[in-house]
Amino acid sequence: MPQQIIKRRSRGFICVNAHPEGCRRNVERWVAGVKGKMPAGQNTPKNVLVIGASTGYGLASRIAAAWGYGAKTLGVFFERPPEGDKTASAGHYNTVAFHSLAKRDGLFAASINGDAFSDEIKHATADAIRREMAPVDLVIYSLASPKRTDPRTGRVHNSVLKPVGQAFTNRTIELDSEKVVSVTLEPANEDEIADTVAVMGGDDWRRWMDLLLEEKLLAPGARALAYSYIGPEITWPIYRDGTIGQAKKDLERAAADLDATLAKKLGGNAWVSVNKAVVTQASAAIPVVPLYLSLLPLAMKTKNLDEGPLEQMRRLFTDFLCTGHAPKLDEARRLRLDDREMRGDVQAEVAALWPQVTTENLREVSAFAEFQREFRGLFGFEVDGVDYEQPTETDLQW
Ligand code: NAD
Repeated sequence: MPQQIIKRRSRGFICVNAHPEGCRRNVERWVAGVKGKMPAGQNTPKNVLVIGASTGYGLASRIAAAWGYGAKTLGVFFERPPEGDKTASAGHYNTVAFHSLAKRDGLFAASINGDAFSDEIKHATADAIRREMAPVDLVIYSLASPKRTDPRTGRVHNSVLKPVGQAFTNRTIELDSEKVVSVTLEPANEDEIADTVAVMGGDDWRRWMDLLLEEKLLAPGARALAYSYIGPEITWPIYRDGTIGQAKKDLERAAADLDATLAKKLGGNAWVSVNKAVVTQASAAIPVVPLYLSLLPLAMKTKNLDEGPLEQMRRLFTDFLCTGHAPKLDEARRLRLDDREMRGDVQAEVAALWPQVTTENLREVSAFAEFQREFRGLFGFEVDGVDYEQPTETDLQW
C-alpha cells in the first residue's frame, strides 16, 4: 500500500495529479450540505443513473439525490485509477469517498468506470441496473468530454471551442502566465462544428435513452435531464453561438424528441437544465470563461446569490423536480437554474468590472485568487483541513 506525500504537480494550469484526502474532504463537505437539509419533496427520485458522475455537476447531482432523498445511485464516468506511485484522477478519489460515505450511511451505490460513449459501457450499465437496481426513474446526463469515438463508425470526433462564422476577439486570463491578454479565436470550419456536435450534442444521450427504453429499464414517469449553459452576451461568440453552443442546441433538440417519446411510452419527461457557470475541469478550459468566473462571484456574493454545483443541484431537486407539480420551464422548455447569474444587476456589475481588469490589478479587481484556489481544490489541493505534509495512501478503490 503506497503512502506518499503528494504535492500538486501541474502542466500549465491543469493539475496532473490529485490528493485523495482533499478529494474526500470535498465530497464530505457536499454530503454535509444536503444530508438532512433537503425538504421532504414529492415525486422524489429512488433509482438514479448519473452519466458523468465523478466530478462537477454530475457528482453534485448524485450526492443531492443520494443524501437528499436516499436514492440508489449508479454512476458512470471515465477516470484514471491509481497506478504504482502515480495518483488516480480526482474523479476516482471522489468516487472512493462517495462509496465509503454511502456505505456508512446505508445508501446503495454502484459505479462503472469507462467510456460512456461506447456500446460496451452502455450494456454494462444496463446489466448493472437490471441486476442491482429497480428500473431507473431519473437519468442525469452530465458528460463533458473533449472527444468521442462513435461506436457505429469507429470515428473519433474531437470537439473544439471556437466561434462560428467569424473570428472573435476578447480579453481573457492566460492561465499559465496569469496575464490578462486579448485573444483572437479563428472561426471553426464545418467539420469542426460537426465534430463538436457529435461529442457534446444530443446523439449519445438519445442512444443511452433508446437502450434503456428498449431494455425496459425505465420506470413509469421516468425523467431524463441533460445540462447546458447559456451565459451573458459577452461570452456568446465563444459559447452560445460558438461550436459548443451548436452542440448544446442539438442537445435541446434531443430533449424535445426524448420528451415526446418518454411522455408517450411512460408518461415521463426529458428536459435540458441550464445551469450556472461554476468552476469545473470542463469550464476552466473554455477561453474567456476564466475571466468571467473570476468576476461573477464578486457580483453574486455581495448580493448573497452565489452558488456552487451542490447548491445548484439542491435547487434543481427542491424547486423543479420534487415539487409535486410540473417544473417551470422557459419558452424553449428548459429549466433555468441560471436565473440568479443572469439577473440584470449581477450582469451589470460583471460588465462594469470586465474592462477594468489588467495583469497588474488582476488579484485586486477580480476574484482570480479564489478561482485558482477553487480550481486546485477540484484536484484535492489547497483544501481546508488537509495536512499536505502527511503521507497519504494513494492506492484506493471503491
Ligand atoms: P466535469 O468536467 O466536472 O465532469 C465531466 C464528467 O464527465 C466527469 O464525471 C467525467 O468522468 C465524465 N466523462 C468525461 N468523458 C467521459 C467518457 N468518455 N465516458 C464517461 N464519462 C466521461 O464537467 P461539468 O462542468 O460538471 O460539466 C457537466 C455538464 O454540465 C456538461 O454538459 C456541461 O456543459 C454542463 N454545464 C457546465 C457548467 C459549468 O460552468 N461547469 C455550466 C452549465 C452547464
